[in-house]
Amino acid sequence: MIRIFENIDISARNSFKVHQQAAKIVEFDHNDELSQLFAEHIKGEWMALGGGNNILFTRDIEPTLIVPCNCHIEILSQNENSAHIRVGAGLEWDDLVAWSVENDLWGLENLSLIPGKVGAAPVQNIGAYGAEAKDCIVNVEMYFPEQGNFITLAAEHCNFAYRESVFKHTLKGRVIITAVEFMLSKQAQPKLGYGDVTAKVEELGGVSLKNIRDAICSIRRYKLPDTAVTGNAGSFFKNPIVSTTIAEALAAQYPDMPRYGTSDPHSTKLAAGWLIDQCGLKGYSEGNVGVHHRQALVLINTTGNATGSEVIAFARKVQSAVKEKFGIEIDTEVNIL
Ligand SMILES: Cc1cc2nc3c(=O)[nH]c(=O)nc-3n(C[C@H](O)[C@H](O)[C@H](O)COP(=O)(O)OP(=O)(O)OC[C@H]3O[C@@H](n4cnc5c(N)ncnc54)[C@H](O)[C@@H]3O)c2cc1C
Repeated sequence: MIRIFENIDISARNSFKVHQQAAKIVEFDHNDELSQLFAEHIKGEWMALGGGNNILFTRDIEPTLIVPCNCHIEILSQNENSAHIRVGAGLEWDDLVAWSVENDLWGLENLSLIPGKVGAAPVQNIGAYGAEAKDCIVNVEMYFPEQGNFITLAAEHCNFAYRESVFKHTLKGRVIITAVEFMLSKQAQPKLGYGDVTAKVEELGGVSLKNIRDAICSIRRYKLPDTAVTGNAGSFFKNPIVSTTIAEALAAQYPDMPRYGTSDPHSTKLAAGWLIDQCGLKGYSEGNVGVHHRQALVLINTTGNATGSEVIAFARKVQSAVKEKFGIEIDTEVNIL
């Protein structure tokens, strides 16, 4: 079924809870409705929207927002080692993780409780606690309105990297992801040793799929603001990747500075939250916007009245403070519209 909403407030469709208007939103339940949808309901520009958990709206939105609502989970094949599944883009990401844990399938558990839809997961290659969506994605299925057809792109052609993919570059604004295929393991593959996960898993009774999910849910509930209560979009900034020479020079000055290796020995990832915290900004707020008191990477709509432009102005101040103290640029992770 196709549902159409015109001239509506989108504060309930973005996790920052900013009030802007959208000219038109269309939701569809089935892939075979897409050609009709483009023929009859979309005349000009359009944009795909999931749950709005990684978007900051700074103005009213003229392009039609297209929201996939297809929510199936289909097992395409399985053997004693793994299961190959296909999941509709409209399913809540965490419902998929819960389903995988209930079905003893490993791979997604560290990505528990990341808000958003399955269709958005490949866009920024969501990641947390040492895991990334790309570790399990095998194919991404999408509709190409320019050609009016569906294509399936194998993971190796999606250019996945840290919070990156082809969907943020060459294919940005050109495709609607309609389903994602994952390969999940039936063999235990715990990814521990990141953050406080190991200790929490032990506290819950030891390593199991369910305990890892429960540990991560518990840590995230403690550390991150609940979007139902406080508007935010998770990490507002990406962790900067700098040359290892720069990282070593900074580490000599700041011995406690966290550093993470990357696949390139000449590059080192730094923790943007730590850099912001060192600027004395954790918990700091101005007007309607602030830095979360437990996780400095997260900017929050403190009063519920923040506008997108206010958030941007505040973010620029945070970026300048980090640049001034450490000489490092921190980029935004959130999509700004
Ligand atoms: C409290 C909180 C915690 C978070 N924690 C994490 C975390 O730990 N790790 C992490 O990686 N992210 C995290 N995020 C960010 C966010 O959850 C993810 O980016 C998520 O994938 C966004 O999903 P969404 O459906 O809300 O996408 P949206 O915000 O609606 O869209 C994000 C982008 O994807 C595009 N898009 C969405 N759906 C489609 C589609 N079907 N086809 C084509 N393009 C599409 C949109 O156009 C937009 O550019 C967090 C956010 C919040 C609010």
